[in-house]
Amino acid sequence: MAVDLHTHSSASDGSDTPEALVARAAEQGLTALALTDHDTLEGVPRAGAAAAEAGIELIPGVEISLEWPGRGMHLVVLFLQPGEGPLQGRLGDLQRSRRARNRLIVERLCELGLPLSIEEVEAQASGGSVGRPHVAAAMVERGYVVDPVAAFDLYLAAGRPAYVDRFRLEPEEAIELALRSAAVPVLAHPHTLGIDTRAEMAGVLERLAAAGLIGLECHYGTYERDGRSGMVALARRFGLVPSGGSDYHGRFKPDIRLGSGRVGLPVPGSVLEELRAAVGARL
Ligand code: AMP
Ligand code: ZN
Ligand code: FE
Ligand code: FE
Repeated sequence: MAVDLHTHSSASDGSDTPEALVARAAEQGLTALALTDHDTLEGVPRAGAAAAEAGIELIPGVEISLEWPGRGMHLVVLFLQPGEGPLQGRLGDLQRSRRARNRLIVERLCELGLPLSIEEVEAQASGGSVGRPHVAAAMVERGYVVDPVAAFDLYLAAGRPAYVDRFRLEPEEAIELALRSAAVPVLAHPHTLGIDTRAEMAGVLERLAAAGLIGLECHYGTYERDGRSGMVALARRFGLVPSGGSDYHGRFKPDIRLGSGRVGLPVPGSVLEELRAAVGARL
């Protein structure tokens, strides 16, 4: 019994539709799949319907970027139901800030002599969260760059001329909103925090656990099997559930396979039961 608790669909920056993602999960023999698109639950109803048909469990979720000085702190929020709620409401703010930012990026590109319309960018997305990957795709279509990697390297990555920063929630605020929404906050891919020492990582986990963090992504698409036991031990030390997922994006990150990542996850189904118990304990 294996599960995958971190994936993206075409409702954000994955290439598979929610239905195709679920079909692939069933093919891989997964018993449960979490859809965790960036800042949006838009793919959840479609994925849920497909999962019910395929006989696998769909856990609704999102991935949110947080304020953090290092490379990036992301929170995967599991069991977040579409509809009204504290965190669900904040997702609306994040979408509005994304739209404002996309307009600024397009303005910058125009100033750089690369005219592009916001409509062309939005046409690259199928609703949901629109962001830099869609700007990159529109730039490729215009023939401004050979591929999306070049678009990021030359224009869109942090520090490049068309880069515009965006609004992010503070870690404590996001965790609190998740808990108030009866959802489970999990710290995603801790390696992107840019922390080198175990002592420093322990300090961060202590801070986030005190804020109510429930899980730590110990199994990840690019983590070697060897490094994981240390991460699991660290999670247990702070009472965190060792969660995990591939961070599958379909053909946009072709080396990451659903359910197994680059090096072979798998995430045991028992993790999901522990996370479910954590939600139950809070309700
Ligand atoms: P956004 O949420 O609009 O800031 O876009 C972030 C997404 O852009 C990430 O999830 C990646 O999929 C993609 N991305 C970020 N940096 C790069 C890069 N240097 N090269 C290619 N894709 C990137
Ligand atoms: Zn992504
Ligand atoms: Fe992430
Ligand atoms: Fe992700």
